[in-house]
Amino acid sequence: MSRRRAQERSSDEKRGPGVGFSRAEIWKWPIIVVTAGLLLTTALARVALWGSRVRDAGRFENAVQRTGTSIEAKLEAYIGLLRAGAGFFAGSQSVGRTEFKAVTDRVQLEKYYPGVQGIGFSQRVPLAERAAYVAAQREDGETGFDISPPGDRKEYFPIVFIEPRDRRNLHAVGYDMFSDPTRRAAMERARDRGAAAASKRVMLIQEIDTEKQWGFLIYVPVYRGGVVPETVAERRATLEGFVYSPFRADDLLAGLLRGESMPRVNLEIYDGLEAVPEQLLHRSRIPASSRPTFDRTAQLHIADQTWTVRYRTTEAFEADSVRGWAKWVAVGGVFISGALGWIMLALARSEARARARGREIAESRERLRVTLSSIGDAVISTDARGLVTFMNPVAEHLTGWSMAGARGRSLPEIFRILDEDTGRSNRNPVELVLREGTRVAPANHAVLISREGGKIPIDENAAPIRSSSGKILGVVLVFHDVTEQRRARDALRESEARKDAILRSALDAIVTIDHAGLLVEFNPAAERIFGYSRDAVVGRQLCDLIIPARYRERHRLGMTHYLATGEGPALRRQLEMPALRADGTEFPAELAIIPIPGAQPPMFTAFLRDITERKRIEQQLREAAERFRFMAESIPQKIFTAGRDGKFDYFNQQWMQFTGLTLVELQQGGWARFVHEDDLAENVRRWEAAVVKTEPFQIEHRIRRHDGLYRWHLTRALAFRNAEGRVQIWIGSNTDIDDQKREEERLERTVAERTTALSETNEQLEAFVYTIAHDLRGPLRSIAGYSQLLADDYKATLDESGRHLLERIQGSAEFMDRLILDLLAFGRTARAEIELGPVDVRKAWSIALAQTADQRERARAEIETIEPLPRVVAHEATLGQVFANLLSNAMKFVAPGVRPHIRLRSEERGEVVRLWVEDNGIGIPPELKERIFRVFERLHGARYTGTGIGLSIVRKGVERMGGRVDVESMVGEGSRFWIELKKAAEG
Ligand code: ADP
Repeated sequence: MSRRRAQERSSDEKRGPGVGFSRAEIWKWPIIVVTAGLLLTTALARVALWGSRVRDAGRFENAVQRTGTSIEAKLEAYIGLLRAGAGFFAGSQSVGRTEFKAVTDRVQLEKYYPGVQGIGFSQRVPLAERAAYVAAQREDGETGFDISPPGDRKEYFPIVFIEPRDRRNLHAVGYDMFSDPTRRAAMERARDRGAAAASKRVMLIQEIDTEKQWGFLIYVPVYRGGVVPETVAERRATLEGFVYSPFRADDLLAGLLRGESMPRVNLEIYDGLEAVPEQLLHRSRIPASSRPTFDRTAQLHIADQTWTVRYRTTEAFEADSVRGWAKWVAVGGVFISGALGWIMLALARSEARARARGREIAESRERLRVTLSSIGDAVISTDARGLVTFMNPVAEHLTGWSMAGARGRSLPEIFRILDEDTGRSNRNPVELVLREGTRVAPANHAVLISREGGKIPIDENAAPIRSSSGKILGVVLVFHDVTEQRRARDALRESEARKDAILRSALDAIVTIDHAGLLVEFNPAAERIFGYSRDAVVGRQLCDLIIPARYRERHRLGMTHYLATGEGPALRRQLEMPALRADGTEFPAELAIIPIPGAQPPMFTAFLRDITERKRIEQQLREAAERFRFMAESIPQKIFTAGRDGKFDYFNQQWMQFTGLTLVELQQGGWARFVHEDDLAENVRRWEAAVVKTEPFQIEHRIRRHDGLYRWHLTRALAFRNAEGRVQIWIGSNTDIDDQKREEERLERTVAERTTALSETNEQLEAFVYTIAHDLRGPLRSIAGYSQLLADDYKATLDESGRHLLERIQGSAEFMDRLILDLLAFGRTARAEIELGPVDVRKAWSIALAQTADQRERARAEIETIEPLPRVVAHEATLGQVFANLLSNAMKFVAPGVRPHIRLRSEERGEVVRLWVEDNGIGIPPELKERIFRVFERLHGARYTGTGIGLSIVRKGVERMGGRVDVESMVGEGSRFWIELKKAAEG
């Protein structure tokens, strides 16, 4: 998605579908109105709440104050009464029961002091006076009087008088209040302070009914003499007793608070400083509300005793409160705010919708424009008359027309199309659409002719544009360049054709099956190999056709396994298995099965080859190898084979018998195992060279027999190559030539002996020739001398033929002399005592030049000497003689009219020096060059004079100096004689 489109989408999401107006904008005013309304409501409700609270607090405080004051004030009045009572006792010597009643009657307790149980006097009676006191009381009319509880105590404070003498109070008469710790504590405090003191909470003696109340007592001390003494000690000493009142708390407080506005406040009175249940004296009858608005404690001080009072508002109080109003203010405020908000929202929505509609239209128009400009298809629209109204850039590009230029023109002018196959002009799609009123499908193989005349293959589509009422407003034409698609289609066709050609021409059977095992493809090679026609087998089960029955189950299982798991161990590998022909015969086949990549459901192609012939050849090869083995084992000779790399892999039985080694020892040891150590290095070198160059191997070497004896063998090995010339195997044989070798050695020895004998004979012969030649020379000189005399004296008298004969005699004698001289020279060379030493080649050369000076003059020969000329080990005179003979021949054997050109040069070859004497003469046929060095051998007898001894002398001389001689020559190309002599040490 392009960035632009992504942005458009995200803003759409914010607006919400179809609204086209930001949610924030719609909600802004409603939210402000509701918020303001709620704020105002909250403020009003708060004010109402605050007002009601102030009022309630006043009411509560009023009730608390009044109650506290009322209790304190009334109890103070009671205490005053008691004080008056005490004064009465102090004022008179003795107070009798009757007097006490008279006084109390006057007070009208029940009328003016509601809640008080009574008023009484308790008298101090020391232990010593107890019995007398009890007796006196009984005497006085209190017949059943006794002090309770019984027991001896230091002093007693029994209740003596109590008014009114009702059922409850009479029950208390005689009770020693000092015996109870709570009462005693209050009494002692009253005594010591000289003032009224209230007791802590007690259960009164008078509580004789089942319904009991907590109560308390107030004591006022009575001292002897009527006044309160100064000191505590005096107070204790002069104490007469106490005037006291018992109070039932509930009765008392109900009475005290009668007439107060009590239903609004609940009250709990605790004895002491804390509001704990164990100290509860009284609780008002009307309960506190479950969540009292006010809850306060205050303390009251009653006759030196502190009470804690807890005040709580009651339901009646809460009901009376105006606090509830605040709630109604809030509810009303919220409701009004909500209603206002709702109205605002409805207004904003309708406003937003109106605005969004406008924007949507603009946007959709823009989007359409952008879409049409950016899509890959070309778009042209026309009006109802077929005149162009719009073209997008792709259409401009393809047609070659600009939007401005095309507007208002008729479509066929802009959009010219041909049928690619027929070359005919195609129908005008817009006309068709206007006529038919429906969409027109693309014409086949349409080609667009652009304004410049270019041809572009296209696919096109045309459809009517209708108004909402269904009227045709125009036509829209969409088309695109399909060059690429056509090219791809052509490429596909071509690749199909290629595949088809491969299938048809393949030598291997190519068989394709689908996942169900049904044949899809069966190429001509398959038809030939299996004997089925393609049409007969396509669509049939492969299994039943070409797989032998016993393999079918395995094939099915393999297929199922592959389809289930995608694993096929038999796939993509070369397999060998039998296959079945149409005629029911089986043949060995080599095949590879390959799943077709990407085929879904899977398909497989099998490449299959009939390998009957190959199998037969393999069999033949195996048999041939066996035959070779058999032959190798059966012949008496030793045979071995080695691989291409020269490693031994086979030795025949004869080998093992001869060497006494096992096959493995022979294979692994290499040559060293059995070849004599003196021959080993050369053996290995030659073998390696032969293996590398694949040249025949041959060597004579000694091989150790099992008894340790070495015997000479001739070993040969040849590389056996296959049809391509590649080495397959080395086959070697070892022939025992030990006997033959010994025979050869014996023969050589014989030859050497004979040669020695022969050369002795030769030497004798040479000596003999020399003697003869020497002796022959005498008579020859005579013949020459006399024939010279004859010529001098009688030449003039002799006729022509006589002169001719004489000349021939002289010539023969001369030749004879030459011959003899040469023989003598040869003999000297062969026999002379020569001593070898360093010789300057230049010196010997100049000797030779001097010897042949005449001949040179005659032949006008040219001599060239090329420096440097080294010193050699030789004999100077002999070397001179050798050079002289070579020079003489070189000047002699030239073609008629050719001026001899002779060159001497040297060539260093390591230890030796080759001295070349080269000429431009008639040359020597190479095949005859051996002969010319023999005595009397001549190649050019008729035309050139000579004795045939010169080169014999050369050879003899060179041999005697320890050197060698030879010639390189071709007929007509001059001759290059060389002699090779040892180089002399420098200096
Ligand atoms: P000759 O007395 O014939 O020279 P040599 O023994 O010197 O006898 O030579 C033997 C033969 O070798 C010659 O007759 C000639 O045929 C051939 N021969 C020797 N030297 C040369 C040469 N430089 N060029 C051609 N042929 C030669």
